[in-house]
Amino acid sequence: MSGFDLHSLVRENIRELKPYRSARDDFDKGILLDANENSMGSPIESDLELNRYPMPLQEELRAKIAAYRKVKPSQVFTGVGSDEAIDLLFRIFCIPGHDRILINPPTYGMYKVSAKINDVQVDEVLLDENFQLRPDKILEQVTTQTKLIFICSPNNPTANSIKRDDIIKVLSSFNGIVVVDEAYIDFSGTGSMAAMTDEYPNLVVLQTLSKAFGLAGIRLGIAIASEEIISYMLKVKAPYNINKLTSKAAIEAFDHVDKVQENVRRILDERKRMEDMLAEIEEVDEVFPSDANFLVFRVKNALKVYEVLAAEGVVVRYRGNEPGCENGLRLTIGTPEENDFFIHKLQEILKKI
Ligand SMILES: *Cc1c(COP(=O)(O)O)cnc(C)c1O
Repeated sequence: MSGFDLHSLVRENIRELKPYRSARDDFDKGILLDANENSMGSPIESDLELNRYPMPLQEELRAKIAAYRKVKPSQVFTGVGSDEAIDLLFRIFCIPGHDRILINPPTYGMYKVSAKINDVQVDEVLLDENFQLRPDKILEQVTTQTKLIFICSPNNPTANSIKRDDIIKVLSSFNGIVVVDEAYIDFSGTGSMAAMTDEYPNLVVLQTLSKAFGLAGIRLGIAIASEEIISYMLKVKAPYNINKLTSKAAIEAFDHVDKVQENVRRILDERKRMEDMLAEIEEVDEVFPSDANFLVFRVKNALKVYEVLAAEGVVVRYRGNEPGCENGLRLTIGTPEENDFFIHKLQEILKKI
């Protein structure tokens, strides 16, 4: 990568920002009468001292994540879901009403929503017919106002992984930030790009505890990048973004990664079984190959099938409005019992429609 200068890419107001300093940044031991907390305690039984503010920098959790992903703790940011990390990247790099981002539809909807919230224009380069990236087209579309390119791999909603070489082509030729969203990485056959953040100063990898870790309820998202990018994210975030309950659950999860891996294996077994069963149904026109914890398949009148399925108790996602996904339904892999019930209902409905 030549000619990449992070600081010149950062919005001036952010470069100059002096972060909020909480009382706890200076002293965190002794009789704590500095933060207007309630010293009488919380009304809830807990050993977490919930009457006290959490640690702003989440050092223990970030160290656990870093060890697991083989990067340095200073390269890890923790946020309230990936959504917070996405929003922060907009606020650090994109001047509202001026700058642009580039996305590759069909892809995760949050990039565009976050862009709109931040008054940032969105350019689109569709994935090709195999739902792969078109690096040359992307690089042609890039302007001096383009600050972020979002690449989702494995991609939601198409379920496939994006070729590493194509991502690298964009990374090494684009002078802005390339965000690789790896929400589904632990279900895929390809490894994470997290360790490549050492090599590419413009790479930000997003991960989450919402999918493979089975902790969507605690809202814990992760960004991995150069130490410089992460220090901007830490500077801009709300001081106490990660609460103590979330932090405790997340730290505990990293002590049980064997359980995470076991659940991933079970999901992958079920994915294979469902893929085979769907392929055998005559009315199913296509099942997309999947590197994630969901399957996309096509049936005629998909919207109708979706509605009847929901009425009969199985909620899947209609993705037929996405480019290249006409008549596509997205099915999250469930438990074996849920999956059997779904297949049974689907067959029943397809016979009637
Ligand atoms: C589910 C998902 C996420 C996770 O978002 P959280 O806010 O961390 O729950 C991120 N990116 C993609 C593409 C997803 O599908």
